[in-house]
Parts: sequence; structure tokens; C-alpha cells
Amino acid sequence: MHDIVIVGGGPGGYASALYAHNFGLSVALIDDERPGGTCLIRGCIPAKQWLYVAEVFSTVSHAAEFGVVTEQPSLDWAAALARKNQTVEGLVRGLGGLLQKNGVEVITGYGRLAGPGKVEVESEEGRQTVEGEAVILASGSHARTIPGYDFDGEKIVSSDHALDWPQRPNRVAIIGGGVIGCEFASFLVDVGAEVHVFEVMDQIIPGSDAEAAKQLQRQLQKRGVKFHIGVAVDAPKVGETVVVPFGEESVEVDVVLVSVGRGPNTDDVGLNTVPAEVDQGFVVVDLDTMQTAQPGLYAVGDIVAGTPQLAHVGFAEGIAAVTHIATGRPRAVNYQAIPRVTYTHPEVAEVGLTEAQAVERGLEVETAKHVFNGIGRAIIIGDNQGFAKVVSEKGGAIVGAAVVGPQAGELIHELMFSVGWEAMPDEAAAFIHAHPTLSEAVGETLMSAAGRSLH
Ligand SMILES: Cc1cc2nc3c(=O)[nH]c(=O)nc-3n(C[C@H](O)[C@H](O)[C@H](O)COP(=O)(O)OP(=O)(O)OC[C@H]3O[C@@H](n4cnc5c(N)ncnc54)[C@H](O)[C@@H]3O)c2cc1C
Repeated sequence: MHDIVIVGGGPGGYASALYAHNFGLSVALIDDERPGGTCLIRGCIPAKQWLYVAEVFSTVSHAAEFGVVTEQPSLDWAAALARKNQTVEGLVRGLGGLLQKNGVEVITGYGRLAGPGKVEVESEEGRQTVEGEAVILASGSHARTIPGYDFDGEKIVSSDHALDWPQRPNRVAIIGGGVIGCEFASFLVDVGAEVHVFEVMDQIIPGSDAEAAKQLQRQLQKRGVKFHIGVAVDAPKVGETVVVPFGEESVEVDVVLVSVGRGPNTDDVGLNTVPAEVDQGFVVVDLDTMQTAQPGLYAVGDIVAGTPQLAHVGFAEGIAAVTHIATGRPRAVNYQAIPRVTYTHPEVAEVGLTEAQAVERGLEVETAKHVFNGIGRAIIIGDNQGFAKVVSEKGGAIVGAAVVGPQAGELIHELMFSVGWEAMPDEAAAFIHAHPTLSEAVGETLMSAAGRSLH
């Protein structure tokens, strides 16, 4: 009998397993592959490695603008793929070592709940029942598709396949202009592919600040991405190439990448053996504790109903669940201050409410904005498009922020504090930013939000 049995070794599951050692709890972690999950093996990490390959390629291609003369670079795709695999392997192995060091028993096999406190594990060796005082379900998610676009791994692919393409595709249609679709568009166009992005909503990265999404779209368009916004595609014609029809028009490509969202892995995890509530496949939990309707059964990560599907949300929810198991006290995640980053070039990073969401909630808000155009550091690095934007309640605290531009994913974190601590613009603007840094764009925005400005 363990203190905690965890099903799924992605960020939600492995963070729970690692954190449990703070309380001296014994843990069994069940995964049907090596722990790492979507994030380490076919998500965040490999996707960001490919984006960095594109960044290096682009930097070298434009080196002459800085007086550095090189041959036009070419891309050794096999070497880039090997680099991606090496990064993933290093992190997966490192995680394995950490779990071992923390005394976590890793069990390889497929786990299903088999009543309160029981998980039946199926593996090549047979079946065994693993028991725990508490069970955390962290089985993660899988790529969804749309009718007519069943994945075949070659012509119609998900991000899982695209991260392992053996060579660069020449022409790609991306169905879905959300975070994953835009990240692939940014990477592919920068390494020379022809890219079409289809988005059925009226903006890319739906739900994001509309101005930030427009800025990203404009910059990707300038580099050659063709956007089809507010457009629903019809079923494709798959042959040597793939024809993607939409309305009276169509595009012909070599491969279609479908990125229309991710569904929870909860169909076959034994949820029918416990009285936990499930909503369209997602597990309903008490967000103060991550506990389901079945006492002692917790859910964290991408399977949780109504919380963002992000690795760091999985980490935070794992910490919340383990804290409740160990202490009986809630340690709720502050969902209001979770940074959300799209790692395109330029990056788009947000925290808290967008202006539109704040208005929808009936808040009277004001916004302040500062562009990167005049920021010395941005000019030095030749990457000075975009802006920082702060949304605050009229006469009140900062409720949200967006940054689109160089290093936005790093810069958003000081705004995370502002939103998380419900800082007044004047309080946040009182701090001095070093010169010349990109973070001056944030400093200047905060000053404007406080009713003053410098440049
Ligand atoms: C291309 C891509 C890029 C992404 N980039 C980012 C990013 O930059 N930043 C970010 O925050 N998020 C990103 N994400 C999302 C992030 O990967 C997920 O939010 C995160 O991995 C969810 O963690 P999880 O623990 O809930 O589930 P997962 O990571 O999906 O892990 C679940 C694990 O459980 C195992 N499993 C499932 N069912 C069972 C079972 N019954 N028995 C045993 N094992 C089981 C699976 O094999 C898997 O290892 C990205 C996702 C994709 C696809």
C-alpha cells in the first residue's frame, strides 16, 4: 500500500510524484511509456526545440544586417531532428533520475481505476493491483481531429507526427490557428516551407488579446504565412498531394497538420468504477483541492474540466493535490495569474484578463501600451516590432497584461506578479528597469498605466 498512486507520468503526474517527497509520502507512478508525458516527449520541449532551430536559422540568414558575413545557411534537417531527440532524451532521462532519487516507484503499464484506492495495471508481465491511500489521475490528452481528417501519420498528421518529420515538408496546410498551429506555422515558414493556416474563428490564437493576435498575424504574414481566417475547411482530397477545399476555393499541399485542440484521455481509465463526475470527458474537481466527488481520488493536468491545458498548470495542480493529501488543507492554484505563452516569432505572452474579457465581466477598465519600436535593446537586436499592454480597473488594480515581441515569454513574469498581487499601476510602476533591456517596454507601460510617461 502506497500513500499515493498516480496514473500518468506527464507534468501533472510527475510533479505530484516529485512534490510528495516534501511530506515523506510513498508514491507509485504508473505510465504506459517512460515518464515525461506529452510535454517532454511530444509537446512543449520538442516543439520549442524546433522553434529554436528556426530562430538560429533565421538569425544566421540575417547576419549580414549586422555586418557579419556568412555563406547563406542551409538546414541539415537530420541533424536538427537529432538535436531535438537528444534534448528530449536528456530531459526524460533526467526526470527518471529525479524520480528514482525521490524514491518514487515507477511502474510501466496501463492503469485503470478499479474502485476507491485501487488501480489495476496491465503490462507485458500481466496484471497487478496497486493500492494507495489516495489516487491521482493524470492521464493527459491527445490530439483531436475533425471529420474527414483522420490521422494517417503521413498526409494528415497531428503535432505528434510533425515533431518527427524525417524531412522538411515543402507545402503545409495547418488546420487550426491556435497556439500549437501558430507555433508550427512560425517554425515552418522560417525554415522555408509554404504555409497555409486555416482558422474558423475570427482571429488566430482565439481567446488572446485581439491586438496581440493581429500583430502576430501581421508579422507571420510578412514572412509568408497565408492565413484563411473565419474559414471552415471541407473534407480533403488525398492522393500524391492533399487538396484542402474551402468554399469555392482550395489549396494543394504535401501534408495537412490538424491542430484543433486536445481531448482528455479518460475513455478507458476506469472512471466508471468510481462516483467521480465527468463533463464531456473532462474530470470535474473541487478546484481548491483537486479532489473529485470520490474522496481520495484527485485529478490534475489536461484532464481537469475548465482549467487551461498547460504544463505549468499541471505542475501547480499536482502541488495542490499532494498538499491536500498530505495536510488536509487546500492550497488552491491561482488560475488568475497563470502566464500563457505562444512561442512563435514574435512571442505572444499573456496573464490575467484580456481587455475584452474584463469588459465582458462588467469591469470598467483602462489600458496602457508601449511599443518596442523605440526600445534601445530591441533596436540593437533588430527585433523591435510589438508592444506591451496592461489592463487595469479604472482607478484600481492591474487585472491583465499582454506582451507581443522579443522575449515576451520571459517579460510576462513581472506582469504575472502585478496581476497575482493585484498591484495598483502606481505600485508596479515604482520599480526601476535596467537600461538598455527589453523589460523597459514593460516598465514604460506600467508608468503609462499609472498616468505618467517618460519616452
Ligand atoms: C505540440 C505541443 C506543444 C505544447 N507546448 C506547450 C508549452 O510550450 N507550454 C505548456 O505549458 N504546454 C504546452 N503543451 C501542453 C502540455 O504538453 C500539456 O498541457 C501537458 O503535457 C499536460 O500534462 P498532463 O500531465 O496532464 O498530461 P500528459 O503530458 O499528456 O501526460 C499523460 C501521461 O499519462 C500517460 N497515460 C495516459 N493514460 C494512461 C493510463 N491509463 N495508464 C498509464 N499511463 C497513462 C501518457 O502516456 C502520458 O505519458 C503543448 C502540447 C503540445 C501537443
